Amino acid sequence: MSSMDELEQSTQRETGEPVLDVSNLRTAFFTDKEVIRAVDGISFDIREGETVGIVGESGSGKSVTARSIMGIVDSPGRILDGSSIRFKGEELVGKTEAEYRKIRGPGISMIFQDPLTSLNPVYTVGNQIKEVLRLHRGLRGHEATEEAVRLLEAVSIPDARRRVDEYPHQFSGGMRQRAVIAMALASKPELIIADEPTTALDVTIQAQILELLEEIQEERGLSIMFITHDMGVIAEIADRVNVMYAGEIIESAPVEELFGDPKHPYTEGLLESIPGRHPGEDRLRTIKGEVPTPNEPATYCRFAPRCPKAFDECNSVHPVSVPIHESADNHTAACLLYPEDGTREDAVETHRARSEVYEQ
Ligand code: SF4
Repeated sequence: MSSMDELEQSTQRETGEPVLDVSNLRTAFFTDKEVIRAVDGISFDIREGETVGIVGESGSGKSVTARSIMGIVDSPGRILDGSSIRFKGEELVGKTEAEYRKIRGPGISMIFQDPLTSLNPVYTVGNQIKEVLRLHRGLRGHEATEEAVRLLEAVSIPDARRRVDEYPHQFSGGMRQRAVIAMALASKPELIIADEPTTALDVTIQAQILELLEEIQEERGLSIMFITHDMGVIAEIADRVNVMYAGEIIESAPVEELFGDPKHPYTEGLLESIPGRHPGEDRLRTIKGEVPTPNEPATYCRFAPRCPKAFDECNSVHPVSVPIHESADNHTAACLLYPEDGTREDAVETHRARSEVYEQ
């Protein structure tokens, strides 16, 4: 690609309408005993050709976010009123299952962590890809077979013409994940949601899959939402990153800025825990404690029990996402230490005032 093309593409990404625009999304699970606020008021967007990472420990709400967007939240969970998920300007919250079926596939496709969740063991890989081609693109017979082979070749499956007639158990783990990516691409989606797609794979295969996703994205101008608990993977693949904790997005920034100048104490802790970050230390640093279950309204900072910088107000004021300083338009943190232009008291007042509006 020429530098002019690159410039044009990056300008488009910066100014274009978001492909996905999530605003104040809240998804809760209603059990007899409690209400679990798995996703609690998150907002983010994804523009054309962009990879946006969602990162956090297990239990932070990443996968429920993905399932909410795909319209596949399992009972007793549901998306709460006031939530908005707009795909290319169209509101998805409130759509019927029949309406959603038109979005899944040609609009948004999902790649799950375990390829065996997506692949049926009793059908050949080729037949499963051809089923997607039939459903979403009306291809059948020879034409569908040729396209399935082409898709397997596109995801670097060796000897694709023979492999197209094999069953999932005849594929290695890495090849199965490639086949799942081929299936996700078969419907020509505009957005792919990849939920920990490389977690079950060894490091070499993981690197190959990440490279493959990047190549496909460049060729097809795809947008990708990439979910992982692994900061190393996020550094490799994302343009922008949203860090989730206990149902909330607690920091959001372009990837270089997040890694070079993290602001939220939780993000700092995650970065400190990356293996190899502190050469010479034989013990891996970790964040003590666990992600709490968000089973009550956030009237305080949910990270406070684990935060090395916590102070009194952290237990009584809910931090909302604010720019880290006045002139920062693309780096936000939900922490009472920000914005950092004025005094700490000023910052706390900003959060107090904004969270009162939020609760109304
Ligand atoms: S609001 Fe307080 S407890 Fe929460 S991250 Fe910021 S300093 Fe830590």
